[in-house]
Amino acid sequence: MTRLLEKLQRSLSHEMRSYSSLNPLLPSEDHQIQSFSNGVSLEEGKQATSSLLRDTGQSSRSHRPPKEATTSHSSSSKGCLLLTTLVVFLFVTLSFAIATFLYYQTLPCTSEKCVMTAARLLKRVDQSVEPCDDFYQFACGGWINQSVNLKYDSWNTLYETQRTAHDQIVQAMHRINDGSYTLPTNDGERAAAKMYEQCMDTDTLEQTGLTLWERFVDELGGWMPELKNGFLEQEESFEIELDEDEKKRRRFEIEDIILSAFNYSVFPLFWAGVEVNYLDSKRHLITIYEQLPILLSPEKYHYDKELTPEMIFGKLEGPPVTRALQQVGEELAAVLGFDSTDEKVRMMIANMIYLEYQITIAGSTFYKEKKERYTVVQLRELQEIAPAINWHYFLSRLVGENLSFSEPIALKTGTQWIPILSSIVQKLKESRSGVAVLKNYVKWKTIMFHLAYATPKCKDGLLWMAVSLYSGAASQRKEFCVLRLSGIFPLSLPSILRKIDGIDHTEKNVKAVQNIADRIQEKYSEMVQSSNLFSDPETRKNVVEKVENMTKFIGYPDAMRSDFEMEKEAVRLHDSLFWSMVLGSSSVYKERLQRLRLPVNPRDWVDTRPAISVPAHNYERNLIQIPFDSLRLPYSDEHQMDFANYAGIGTIIGHEFTHAFDGQGKLHGPTGNLGVWWSQDSQRKFKTREQCFIKQYAGLMDSHDMNAAKEGLYENIADHVGLKVAYEVKI
Ligand SMILES: [Zn+2]
Repeated sequence: MTRLLEKLQRSLSHEMRSYSSLNPLLPSEDHQIQSFSNGVSLEEGKQATSSLLRDTGQSSRSHRPPKEATTSHSSSSKGCLLLTTLVVFLFVTLSFAIATFLYYQTLPCTSEKCVMTAARLLKRVDQSVEPCDDFYQFACGGWINQSVNLKYDSWNTLYETQRTAHDQIVQAMHRINDGSYTLPTNDGERAAAKMYEQCMDTDTLEQTGLTLWERFVDELGGWMPELKNGFLEQEESFEIELDEDEKKRRRFEIEDIILSAFNYSVFPLFWAGVEVNYLDSKRHLITIYEQLPILLSPEKYHYDKELTPEMIFGKLEGPPVTRALQQVGEELAAVLGFDSTDEKVRMMIANMIYLEYQITIAGSTFYKEKKERYTVVQLRELQEIAPAINWHYFLSRLVGENLSFSEPIALKTGTQWIPILSSIVQKLKESRSGVAVLKNYVKWKTIMFHLAYATPKCKDGLLWMAVSLYSGAASQRKEFCVLRLSGIFPLSLPSILRKIDGIDHTEKNVKAVQNIADRIQEKYSEMVQSSNLFSDPETRKNVVEKVENMTKFIGYPDAMRSDFEMEKEAVRLHDSLFWSMVLGSSSVYKERLQRLRLPVNPRDWVDTRPAISVPAHNYERNLIQIPFDSLRLPYSDEHQMDFANYAGIGTIIGHEFTHAFDGQGKLHGPTGNLGVWWSQDSQRKFKTREQCFIKQYAGLMDSHDMNAAKEGLYENIADHVGLKVAYEVKI
């Protein structure tokens, strides 16, 4: 979801008019704007009419004369009196009904549902501004003034809704910990609450300081031990005879050190794990893709000329990110007791950064193009194209079985980058100093990542700024803890929120949103069928099938209804935050490795944090996932009026559906498998319509920035179509 969703919602009226003519999926319709923004009164009208009927019906029944009046017909005078009484009664009732009708016509919003919905809307409106002068300020001014945290660039209603949910979880965890929580809890929920306490207990964390982390560094065999014991120099200058044991130990030393990093869920040189097969979405596959660098995004490493370790070492040239890394490395060395001014120490660090730089720039253009290339090779082919690593040994150890050489392996960003990585590794393997650089680089990534859980008193320098890239600023500690906990306790943590909201209420809410999602899916299918973009029957069939096949996960996974499943998570709590974090996240990673031979469970959610994450679309399984911390007010609630639920969660559901048609989505067919699903003609037509969006969006921005418009293209289309489909269902 992007900020544009907010922008689109905020300038509903104006933009619907202009965007509707550009919508690639729908014909243009202007009339909807007024009725949509006017939805409150339309809904209220309906509500009032039905309550009026109900009320008059009840009142006529309750004021009906006693039974004898209708049955007493013994004399005419009595009958006349009765008739007069009846006429008067009818007159009074009718007058009352008309008066009530008129009254409710002018004051139609009387139900609690309507009043609360209207109040929420009004709170967000700035009535001091004329909507015709500045619709955005009119529609959202109240919200901006009261609740927007302008410190965050990406602040939006969804974020705000999740933050509110997280705050409530935090309060409940406090109560679980101090014993004042009144609802029943299971072991998983109690373990999550305990770990939250560990995470926020800064006194203990400061007391512990770096002790546990230093022990962890020792377990990895220390950082740059070669510089401490001087073996490196001896081996480089003399031919040293190795005994058999030493030869054996060194045979897989690179693979072993990478495995030890993976064991702690850190992924240097490359990422490997078990994921859904893009070519057969019912099965899992060992999957490998490029590593992410230590600092910042890969494009920050690009530089216009070839960089050398000397340039990094000299701090004179090179991209700013490598200069910063050198300083970070030297500060880390000082923490571990090295003399950071020592030339050898500095040069070793420069060589590690040079390795990071080489790997990063040799990577595929994935990060630039944001387009995945997916290739499946056999293990023996992988060994041929990337021989510097013994893949059979490495992957067999990783997944815990002796793999065959015909084992299929998916390379998620194509095959170009991995031979380059292999040649970089090969070159380093040729000397002991090269091996030392390689091993220490792997360790650097591992110890740096987990430094995020250590909280010493003194946190000066660039090192700690870099660490905060993983851990967030001190002011965001609570959010950092909740997010990390949600990865380690994916069921137990959101379960706490489910209990606070009331299990019954949440279940009803989930059902209501499932119903909204069903209706959006139907409407979406109609839209796609009637769109002139998919002119040939084959493409039309594929896209319609894709929409109709889309799985919708709403709320939370089935396992969250089981105390037994949640209690399994309790073992992830250890006696210190450091080990809870390190071992907790690694156990989640290892569990996912166990899926290799299992078919994809169609009921399994895709994320490791299924109920505390953002709404998402998953290409390879053709599904959307709307976690339940987004299914709350103002997005949806069973006590909120329908139109507001459609405008809120309905728009988001429509947005996620639309990702089926984005750059990557177009490549995945009705079951999620990769392939060619669109005819060239349909592709061309869609591209042409995309250009309209790019131009329109660039025009909306003062900068007329075409690149930014291209960058956000598919989010903008998704925001727009999401809003449109939700509206179409509601009218
Ligand atoms: Zn999106």
